Amino acid sequence: TKWVYTFGDGKAEGAADMRELLGGKGANLAEMSSLGLPVPPGFTITTEVCTWYYANGQAFPEDLADQVAAALQHIGGIVGRQFGDAGDPLLVSVRSGARASMPGMMDTVLNLGLNDETVEAVATRAGDRRFAYDSYRRFIQMYSDVVLGVDHHNFEDILEVYKEGNGHDLDTDLSADDWQEIVTRFKALVEEQTGNPFPQSPELQLWGAIGAVFSSWMNQRAITYRRLHSIPESWGTAVNIQAMVFGNMGERSATGVAFTRNPSTGENELYGEFLVNAQGEDVVAGIRTPQDLTEKARIGSGSDKPSLESVMPNAFSEFVGICDVLEKHYRDMQDVEFTVEQDKLWMLQTRAGKRTAKAALRIAVELAEEGLLTKEEAVQRVDPVSLDQLLHPTIDPKAERQAIARGLPASPGAAQGEIVFDADEAEALKNEGRAVILVRVETSPEDIHGMHAAEGILTTRGGMTSHAAVVARGMGKPCVSGAGTLRVDYAAGTMTVGGTTLKRGDVITIDGTKGEVLLGKVAMLQPELSGEFASLMAWADAARRMKVRTNAETPADARTAREFGAEGIGLCRTEHMFFEEGRIIAVREMILADDEAGRRAALAKILPMQRQDFADLFEIMAGLPVTIRLLDPPLHEFLPHEDAELAEVAGTMGADIEKLRRRVQELHEFNPMLGHRGCRLGITYPEIYEMQARAIFEAAAEAATKTGSPVTPEVMIPLIATRAELDMLKDRIVAVAEAVNREKGVAVEYQIGTMIELPRAALHAAEIAETAEFFSFGTNDLTQTTFGISRDDSARFLAEYVEKGILPADPFVTLDQDGVGELVRIAADRGRSTRAGIKLGICGEHGGDPASIGFCETVGLDYVSCSPYRVPIARLAAAQAAL
Ligand code: PEP
Ligand code: MG
Repeated sequence: TKWVYTFGDGKAEGAADMRELLGGKGANLAEMSSLGLPVPPGFTITTEVCTWYYANGQAFPEDLADQVAAALQHIGGIVGRQFGDAGDPLLVSVRSGARASMPGMMDTVLNLGLNDETVEAVATRAGDRRFAYDSYRRFIQMYSDVVLGVDHHNFEDILEVYKEGNGHDLDTDLSADDWQEIVTRFKALVEEQTGNPFPQSPELQLWGAIGAVFSSWMNQRAITYRRLHSIPESWGTAVNIQAMVFGNMGERSATGVAFTRNPSTGENELYGEFLVNAQGEDVVAGIRTPQDLTEKARIGSGSDKPSLESVMPNAFSEFVGICDVLEKHYRDMQDVEFTVEQDKLWMLQTRAGKRTAKAALRIAVELAEEGLLTKEEAVQRVDPVSLDQLLHPTIDPKAERQAIARGLPASPGAAQGEIVFDADEAEALKNEGRAVILVRVETSPEDIHGMHAAEGILTTRGGMTSHAAVVARGMGKPCVSGAGTLRVDYAAGTMTVGGTTLKRGDVITIDGTKGEVLLGKVAMLQPELSGEFASLMAWADAARRMKVRTNAETPADARTAREFGAEGIGLCRTEHMFFEEGRIIAVREMILADDEAGRRAALAKILPMQRQDFADLFEIMAGLPVTIRLLDPPLHEFLPHEDAELAEVAGTMGADIEKLRRRVQELHEFNPMLGHRGCRLGITYPEIYEMQARAIFEAAAEAATKTGSPVTPEVMIPLIATRAELDMLKDRIVAVAEAVNREKGVAVEYQIGTMIELPRAALHAAEIAETAEFFSFGTNDLTQTTFGISRDDSARFLAEYVEKGILPADPFVTLDQDGVGELVRIAADRGRSTRAGIKLGICGEHGGDPASIGFCETVGLDYVSCSPYRVPIARLAAAQAAL
């Protein structure tokens, strides 16, 4: 088997489309090499070796060693020095590289091949002992951390103590002798902690590093990350081994990272950071504050440190040209890493850059306008869920704001919440329903769960490409990084700036767009939905087949949904209207009444209010379809429980409070969700549905007269199990409709349909469709009844189901296509068999979930309906499903 693929010198055995085998990094290094870009020669050990390694008790295939040796020879031939040669050694980097970028895995070991002997050879060749020993101490630290398990803090402590003891401030102040002394101390530490001297054989070093990469695939952080991002364990990682180039070889050397477009805003400008005389990890680690790449950015940031453009103009202009080549080649914004070794530019990585939703949108639209993408491709480039970020608030410019600290605008948008300093605590408070801002000196992959839980992230160290910044942008969370004037004291649970001390639990607002930390809760604003958003949405609308409606019952929600592009209401839950101010009493009277006459008297009070509700909705929807569902929840949800409430109802009814209390007890149910609810209420108390139907038809008549455009209400009956239920209720509603039409002298058209929420209804859809004029899949209840899992109690155990791989996802979030989906398919097919072209929609929460929307397209539903804020997501997801 071929386990190893080489690249370098304008050639490569691999290519960009081989990422399954070579991992993302390896595939792109090969591609860049073939494009003739300056890539240090190297080779990739394939992901198949990782699979083999785990299938064979963490051993390597027998012929791997020979292939690695040959590949090392090959690189050695290109650069003119050999690995392990004591006189003129080839040093290498070792990096992991999964198919998808995966923080939490072993990342990088640089300068591998150094030992007490080769370090001297490197010093001689480079004519620079300081450089050689600086490289050696970095190697010992990285290697010991990731391969030998000696935590890097130990090394940093040694360095801090040494610098303090010798009056040095910056790493750059240290001389060759200083570094040599540090190396001695580092090696002593390793021996003390591991019981063995630091490995001197380059060969052993290399295999140690390769093993560490493969082992890190199964470490806890990597497993957690895969679970959060649905990355299968079977993918495995590749290992990339490359000839070293040195950004720390003096003042004519540098290392940096860049995005070919601004990853926060999407603006078409080179965007990045670099450090002179440094190695790769220094930039992301946030140890020194990096410098801007371009003069324009430097002027913008007000930095007094020169840009790459001004200090290394030749390398810079070559770099700009390469970025352009890469963008055109990959037809996407790239995130690249580079090193300049003594004025010579080297490319170390390229990949599609992570970006905010705002940037993703702008980049996709502009690439289409530049002709690099078609409109359909642009539509497919934007993750529908990420649009949520654009719909997030920003700080109201008119609001009073008291900035207590400033940092970098690492991820846009505003967020507010209680200060927490610990990721576990952030998660715990979030679970209690509290909003928190995670405040850390810097973040690491161990904090990911806390970052997920927090509304926003604030760090006191690190640049725009620090861990916190990159991860927050990916998650769409506002982030301010590197707010250096803040002092965080984890032990005391405080953060201090100037004379102000804030405690855990104090509320702050962060402005990730400006990079500011503000005291207290500052007023926020909803975003504008124009520009690129409007363009992309227009392209999406042109591409999709399914309509997108909204679940709304209040005028405010209905208006928001229309602004977001809703094409009607797919579910108006009328019971929500029953809780409104001034109504609940009448509703309680109705429920607690002894007989039909008592109920009718109470319903008469509710009728005008319901009519007004519907009239408002019809007016806002201006002729678009509106589906109104009749009363659904068990009646006890409306009942008074406290004595004061009971007394209030008793007062208005002139009834005895003890009698009411007994009635409340009578209404108690053991399983209300499976009890007296849905159409069962309409069967036993037909006057309730009749009142609602009357309110609907009277409002429709009124709205038609007022607006001049006809309204065709869709009356929907919930929780049907049998056709007989629907027949009976339909007759009554038709009678009301005819009565209203007669009374008002109008001819309001209407449809009567049903929700499909029970397996029995799905199975008997053929006969139900003979009565129902439309179906709307209530996949919340259908999931509940198909699984027999209570939707209100599932949170306690379903997470564990997903963790253990019993279910691929929470079926109340993403439709269970195998089970619930099968019932949807059956119902759609059988419904169409008796009523060709029956209108089909979905109004469960799944109507706003992209994966479920994809499924709806395959079943051929006519529309999806979702909450107002998910309407844009659904429009885009429906387009992607259709393309
Ligand atoms: C459903 O069950 O999917 C539905 C939309 O109804 P509700 O969530 O109101 O029960
Ligand atoms: Mg339901």
